[in-house]
Amino acid sequence: MTTDLYEIGDLPQPGEVPRRMYAQVIRPERFGDPDKAFEVEVIDVPEVGPDEVLVSVMAAGINYNNVWAARGVPIDVCKNHARYGEPSDFHIGGSDASGVVARIGSNVTTVSVGDHVVVHSGQWDREADDLPDPMLHDSFRIWGYESNWGSFAQFCKVQAHQCLPKAPQLTWEEAAAPTLVGATAYRMLRGWPPNVVGEGDPVLVWGGAGGLGSMAIQIVREFGGRPVAVVSSEDKAEFCRKLGAVGVINRRDFDHWGMPPHWQDTEAYGGWLSKAKAFGKAFWDALGEKRAPRIVFEHPGEETVPTSIFMCDTAGMVVICAGTTGYNAVSDLRYLWMRQKRLQGSHFANDEQSAAFNRMVVEGRIDPCLSRTFSFEDIPTAHQLMYENAHPEGNMGALVSAPREGLTDLP
Ligand code: NAP
Repeated sequence: MTTDLYEIGDLPQPGEVPRRMYAQVIRPERFGDPDKAFEVEVIDVPEVGPDEVLVSVMAAGINYNNVWAARGVPIDVCKNHARYGEPSDFHIGGSDASGVVARIGSNVTTVSVGDHVVVHSGQWDREADDLPDPMLHDSFRIWGYESNWGSFAQFCKVQAHQCLPKAPQLTWEEAAAPTLVGATAYRMLRGWPPNVVGEGDPVLVWGGAGGLGSMAIQIVREFGGRPVAVVSSEDKAEFCRKLGAVGVINRRDFDHWGMPPHWQDTEAYGGWLSKAKAFGKAFWDALGEKRAPRIVFEHPGEETVPTSIFMCDTAGMVVICAGTTGYNAVSDLRYLWMRQKRLQGSHFANDEQSAAFNRMVVEGRIDPCLSRTFSFEDIPTAHQLMYENAHPEGNMGALVSAPREGLTDLP
């Protein structure tokens, strides 16, 4: 007889699926700081559709997107689920998973029950499959953020094409850590020709010790580029150098962040410009030669975009996937058009890009940079630390059904 509910850490037999599961759940009435917004609840295990797969989650990766989900900013994620045909009054987040395939839909041929997989977080309606890039279809959504049934539960529901082979040399928690940030960084650095990173290209990586940044440094390194990382402490600088950064800039040495003064206020604007130039010089010093970045890898947004656009090379690209510090980023357009630069938005990755990144992980060319592993119960704490920028370098993970030996101590 099938057990109705397993305790966290207890695993059903392969292919056996209980009726209910434990999940870390966000509800609109709890929106706020992540340590209060999540609560463990018992929820019915979802049914899978013909093209879907149920994965028994061994470990989950922690990403910034469920900081946003917990706060209800900038969107109410529960309202968003209805857009994709799954209205709900709760949200099970989690956009990175490693686990074992537990059940497959009637059309699924690419994975079988018992396969060890990691999951990428791009979902779209079947009609988008035929497009050159399904990422550009209206139905594109990030699984476990814009959609429900993410990895902060004993079972998650995904579309079959999201499943990728798990790197056999990695633990469950290591394997769960890098896919969302890594595939995002891969598209940013390789998905926007002709501005793709190549041999000898200088690249500025904001937040080099963060989830995205730690992946970006390694991808740039693997394609022969020369990453210069920006960080806020010496510990983080050392971490970036070990990953392959040829130089590091401490952003605490500068204070010209945010919107520059209006250009008509010539004195104040001149003050801003001299600081932006000093930052550009710090880039040359860190790189060891007088060259501007061919690509600026952006995600802080409002605080840094003015500097990014100013310092990017002629015909280079500022590629941006987030606005963590705010959305009103302004630019002195003279630098953009006269130097024919590109400001390119980028969002997650398609199947090909996710698979290309995963191959690099499977081949051992990318370290997942797992810095800390939390228990299932401590998933809210991990998000709170991330919200406060008090989390360690690299990526964090949480054990769901994986053995507790993987836990690292809380400080
Ligand atoms: P993370 O691990 O917290 O790293 C972000 C880094 O940004 C931090 O390590 C921090 O490094 C740096 N930072 C913080 N405040 C800054 C400031 N005022 N100026 C410059 N740098 C600052 O987060 P992540 O996983 O890399 O994600 C970063 C952002 O990208 C989040 O908003 C996330 O939601 C978004 N994201 C978007 C996508 C997408 O597909 N669109 C995918 C992944 C992530 P220092 O303090 O050392 O400078």
